[in-house]
Amino acid sequence: MKLSHLSALLSVSDKTGLVELAQGLHALGIKLLSTGGTAKLLAEAGLPVTEVAEHTGFPEMLDGRVKTLHPKIHGGLLARRDVAAHRDALSTHGIATIDLLVVNLYPFEATVAKAGCTLGDAIENIDIGGPAMVRSAAKNWNDVAVLTDAAQYAGVLAELQAHGAVQRATRFALAVAAFNRISNYDAAISDYLSSLELPADDAAVPARSAFPAQSNGRFVKLQDLRYGENPHQQAALYRDLFPAPGSLVSAKQHQGKELSYNNLADADAAWEAVKAFDGASDGPACVIVKHANPCGVALGRTAAEAYAGAFATDPNSAFGGIIAFNVPVDAAAAEAVSKQFMEVLIAPGYSAEALRILAAKANTRVLEIPLDAVQREGATPWARGQNAQDVKRIGSGLLIQSADNAVLAAADLKLVTTRKPTPAQVADLLFAWKVAKFVKSNAIVFCSGGRTLGVGAGQMSRLDSVRIASIKAQHAGLSLRGAVVASDAFFPFRDGLDVLADAGASAVIQPGGSMRDEEVIAAADERGVAMVFTGLRHFRH
Ligand code: 5GP
Repeated sequence: MKLSHLSALLSVSDKTGLVELAQGLHALGIKLLSTGGTAKLLAEAGLPVTEVAEHTGFPEMLDGRVKTLHPKIHGGLLARRDVAAHRDALSTHGIATIDLLVVNLYPFEATVAKAGCTLGDAIENIDIGGPAMVRSAAKNWNDVAVLTDAAQYAGVLAELQAHGAVQRATRFALAVAAFNRISNYDAAISDYLSSLELPADDAAVPARSAFPAQSNGRFVKLQDLRYGENPHQQAALYRDLFPAPGSLVSAKQHQGKELSYNNLADADAAWEAVKAFDGASDGPACVIVKHANPCGVALGRTAAEAYAGAFATDPNSAFGGIIAFNVPVDAAAAEAVSKQFMEVLIAPGYSAEALRILAAKANTRVLEIPLDAVQREGATPWARGQNAQDVKRIGSGLLIQSADNAVLAAADLKLVTTRKPTPAQVADLLFAWKVAKFVKSNAIVFCSGGRTLGVGAGQMSRLDSVRIASIKAQHAGLSLRGAVVASDAFFPFRDGLDVLADAGASAVIQPGGSMRDEEVIAAADERGVAMVFTGLRHFRH
């Protein structure tokens, strides 16, 4: 099939797949028109190509700021083929139609993501003519096909080969994709510029605010979900324009059913919690999550041992849970988790044997998220793979806060009782405190020996959280004698402390700061309980 009546304009920064596409178009007889760098590449590949400058009779100028901003280009893209006056205007002014537009834009997002990017670098990477052409072509989608992503090339070429034209539905889908791209591109520019302190001199790296004035379009849609939290709700998954390394949205799924809305929410809770433990310094950790709360967390010498500790906290709740590890899953861990029903398994890696064992649980969604790229000691939360911000939707508004990324060390603890915790208890108190941060308020976490023994979550009264945590430990057949306890916020009265002591607790970690701290401290002294204050609260609602 020869389509010599058609012409294509190609102007791309990312040249991926370009030559193959142009060869395909040329083989169909489609005329090729192109800007400087793109034309050069096509000519080097032996393809006949007309430069835009030659086509318009106007040179590219101002360092490429003006290349395609010309009526011969925009007239050729925007003219309606079905309107006589448009056709007449084209012939009066000697303008040829352009039927296919292939454009990708100056790499603005990649430029500003680089360390040391200056305002000048960013400004030079704002594409002007590219988006203008994409908008022209997408507006005139009925007559023009617009390609803005190399992933679209093969499909469009195949349609041209099969039908001699790009199908109407495809042209519309391409136009929608084009406007999405332009909208994300402009949002990236707007976000970046809104986040700047205007630098005094361009050599300086501009400081960026964690809260850009604009937050529209900062997300890229990944997929529609089958439904939302409940089957009558619609839902979709979006990711940040610049996702942090080690975040859930970058997971690779090895096997299992499609992730649901609840799977994703719970998997994120499990992954964020287990990432709080560093595989190198804390050793293997395992977190089991049900309905956004950890129902078991443990450290171990191996992943399998960590799992055993986490599972033993609350075997009933662990059923159908989400299991996350901070270290790769080996065969022993895979065997161990395979004994229970789990919705999702997440780890930074899997041995080949582990994957073979897990394959027998075909429905289990097995996710891999590399942690190597995550610099735990990195300067920014983003570099540590953490979200810088927490967002909550309220009626017609958003609540945005910096994320609860505070980390506590033994030196930060303030002893308030006569009795001191032993070094082993201090380690357990810090462990319990880390876990409590990931438990919905009011959170009460009993621990001992680097594992949870009872978790009380999401109660409106702290006293009830204490009661529930100790009942759960009892049900699991675990003794709380000598255990340590973390409370995410202070005890307003001594009664919570008394119930903890009755349950067997011997050391407590809590923020302090209550009007009745003296009363609570006196209760701890009276009951022989060691207590430390953190001066830091971990509400999670
Ligand atoms: P090339 O490598 O072919 O010289 O340039 C391709 C890039 O130039 C594409 O990213 C395209 O979006 C961009 N571009 C095309 N026309 C114009 C224009 O008139 N002004 C600017 N600033 N960029 C353009």
